[in-house]
Amino acid sequence: MKNKFFFACALLLLVGGCATAPKFPFTTQVIHNTAYFPVMEMCKADGVTWDYDPLSQVLILKKDGRTLELLVGSDRAILENVPIQLSQPVVLKDSVVWAPIEVRSYLVPAPCPVAVKAGKKEGIYLRPVRIVVLDPGHGGKDPGAIGKNGLREKDVVLDVASKVQKELERCGVVVYLTRDDDRFIPLAERPKIAARKKADIFVSIHANATRSRWIEGFEVYYLSNAVDDDARALAAAENAPLDLEDANFLESLSLKAILWDMIQTENRKESIELARDLGDVVSASMSLKMLGVKGAGFAVLKGSYIPSVLVEIGYLSNRDGERKLRDPQYRKRMAESIAAGIMKFKFYAEASQ
Ligand SMILES: [Zn+2]
Repeated sequence: MKNKFFFACALLLLVGGCATAPKFPFTTQVIHNTAYFPVMEMCKADGVTWDYDPLSQVLILKKDGRTLELLVGSDRAILENVPIQLSQPVVLKDSVVWAPIEVRSYLVPAPCPVAVKAGKKEGIYLRPVRIVVLDPGHGGKDPGAIGKNGLREKDVVLDVASKVQKELERCGVVVYLTRDDDRFIPLAERPKIAARKKADIFVSIHANATRSRWIEGFEVYYLSNAVDDDARALAAAENAPLDLEDANFLESLSLKAILWDMIQTENRKESIELARDLGDVVSASMSLKMLGVKGAGFAVLKGSYIPSVLVEIGYLSNRDGERKLRDPQYRKRMAESIAAGIMKFKFYAEASQ
């Protein structure tokens, strides 16, 4: 097995050569519920030199004076003579060494939007963030808010969510969308999709509208029963698609309310942390008024068993807001900021283990 691996590496080097770099992102594969990349492919692309000892199965990677030692089958590694913990073990699969995606960041500057060095969040348990479900609001027969010039919320949020997905995938996060086209999905179904995908966090993406055409800004919401009047009015608007749905759902909603309340209390702290991280990054990187991180009773966040937030990326009822949300470059920057906010939470969560 060891010889086979060594031969495969040598062959890769002969055939590929270190000069011809494949474009990032690398081939990634989900192993142990985590995104993995083939180590040799990274070596070629990033100019990382390697040395493999088939006897000990230790792979030594070097880049710009930094040394990282990996051991096949182990989730421990040695970086600059200091032992570090990997999220998952290094594996040998089809004669190729695969490592969890974060390994690359130890040798190569992070390719993904990480603006902060994560510290620990004390007194709060945060699970690692490997799988994210993004929920573009509305869809199909439910257009959501509509701007004065006709821009529809369902179209904007689908585009932004797809761009957030691309950004996060660049960082090795596994991402699923609740919808990737213009279709109607009942509110109650959305958290269920997250559960089916075994998501670690759930982020619902919306654009707001209000009677006052002067208001413009960004908001992040987590589920809460204690809400102010504005938040209650917004929740009523975002929950409107419930009217379009099966009446049975409303009944089951009240039956399960007590149970959901209990689960939500457990997740609320984490959801607030996620909401804050998202809000911080977006307000720091976009010239957009941060209207706050608030609690609201959104139906789409109920029934979610994981940290869940809802973001309102701007106001379609505001002329400037609609104009900006129509601009593909603005949407891209917004998506990058949301992805960076999620990455901030992810890094904190993983540093808090
Ligand atoms: Zn909405």
